[in-house]
Amino acid sequence: MQKIKNYINGAYCDPIASKWLDNYNPSNGSIYSEIADSNVDDVAVAYKAASEAFPSWSNTTLEKRSRILLDIANLIDEKLLPLAEAEAKDNGKPLSLALAVDIPRASSNFRFFGNAITQFASEAHESPGLNTMNFTLRQPLGVVGCISPWNLPLYLFTWKIAPAIAAGNTVVAKPSEVTPMTAYLLGEICTEAGLPKGVLNIVHGTGPSAGQAIVEHPNIKAISFTGGTKTGEHIARTAAPMFKKLSLELGGKNPNIIFADCNYQKMLEITVRSSFANQGQICLCGSRIFIERSIYDKFKTDFINKVSSLKIGDPFNAETNLGALVSKSHLEKVQSYISIAEKEGGKILFGGKQVIVKGLENGYYLQPTIIEVPDDQCRVNQEEIFGPVVTLLPFDTEEEVLKMANGTKYGLSATLWTNNLDRTMRISKQLEAGIVWVNTWLNRDLRTPFGGTKDSGMGREGGFEALRFFTEPKNICIQY
Ligand code: NAD
Repeated sequence: MQKIKNYINGAYCDPIASKWLDNYNPSNGSIYSEIADSNVDDVAVAYKAASEAFPSWSNTTLEKRSRILLDIANLIDEKLLPLAEAEAKDNGKPLSLALAVDIPRASSNFRFFGNAITQFASEAHESPGLNTMNFTLRQPLGVVGCISPWNLPLYLFTWKIAPAIAAGNTVVAKPSEVTPMTAYLLGEICTEAGLPKGVLNIVHGTGPSAGQAIVEHPNIKAISFTGGTKTGEHIARTAAPMFKKLSLELGGKNPNIIFADCNYQKMLEITVRSSFANQGQICLCGSRIFIERSIYDKFKTDFINKVSSLKIGDPFNAETNLGALVSKSHLEKVQSYISIAEKEGGKILFGGKQVIVKGLENGYYLQPTIIEVPDDQCRVNQEEIFGPVVTLLPFDTEEEVLKMANGTKYGLSATLWTNNLDRTMRISKQLEAGIVWVNTWLNRDLRTPFGGTKDSGMGREGGFEALRFFTEPKNICIQY
């Protein structure tokens, strides 16, 4: 059986304790590889490699760093098909989605930060009358930790690693143990692109073992984490007293607010995607849909109609719209919320049932599910489900919908559908979210700040925000 080994100091290696975890193919429930079950000793070795690589890497010219990052991007593009196939098999997502989004986005992360680092500048402040000149250095932090989740495996892993190494840091990184395959394949791509050994070290294993060891390591200077809010809370509790820099991208329960004056057809089409893309397992999916009452019944009928034509099945079938959920335990969690909804007085308008796919009977498939909820405070409207489940609620006024939209502990993203400019500004300014999309969804310019407020996290990724996170500002004041 294939072994997913650690990538440390430019080479693949077994975990020191020789322990392995099973890796599942969610489309058929079979175990198809083994994952290094690393612990604190493996993290120590990875840290040593990273710290030894740091002096040379942090003094490598920007031109050379940039060229290596661009070479990594080009190699990812060349290997688009095998990487996309690996992602679809490991995660259960449709191959078409991995081909169109996950893998191209991973290469653009390297390309973007490979270019951005050549444009990153520090500030200077002249102080007239004091005869002083201040300039601020932006120095790399040293060895940093990057920890990522399973929903967009290579996409989110590289979103952290690319700015970290572009800024001159060296990295100990851990992908999710649920979807480690493409991170494993990234190792050989980095070697092929000429990334010096030790600059990127990838340690596989569980959160409580390998992940916790990265967070607790006394000399790992910063943690960039994407994952669940509970895990983020735990990481903050460990890292904050050690005064580590922390970037936390956490859960969401994003509102999708639809006014009657919107471009209806465009809204309907994109709302199907923002509800169910990647089986609803995108932190930015609009899982709470609020519809202006005058179009509520029409929307309900049209939305159910469109959703009922989505095809659920083999991720490798080109016709498939929804593949498998990522794991058995996740499928069970999502199903439990459907039962909770029914107990809370929710009405299942569509879906709600597990799907048995012919030839893939043990896969983790679930129908896209639409629930009409009795009120906005019920559990299915408050807790992150992170699956193909959305709720519907009508509203009458802007005040009412704003109150509901902001009425959860989360604040990641929001989508607004209206053609009224005044309303767009009024509502966008009052939404408690790090990202607001108006008449679009998942439209990304990598220069913009990315992240959430409230329990959706702390700090921002993207563009120069990420390069600022991965550098330490040092002001130098000279009197003349
Ligand atoms: P998770 O929190 O269970 O795991 C995320 C990562 O953290 C994994 O690599 C895991 O092994 C590791 N981990 C777990 N315990 C740890 C510990 N004690 N110390 C260090 N690392 C630890 O999340 P998940 O189930 O993999 O992902 C789903 C969650 O991620 C959802 O809540 C989703 O909203 C969130 N997410 C957020 C964003 C964003 O940008 N805000 C993007 C994608 C996913």
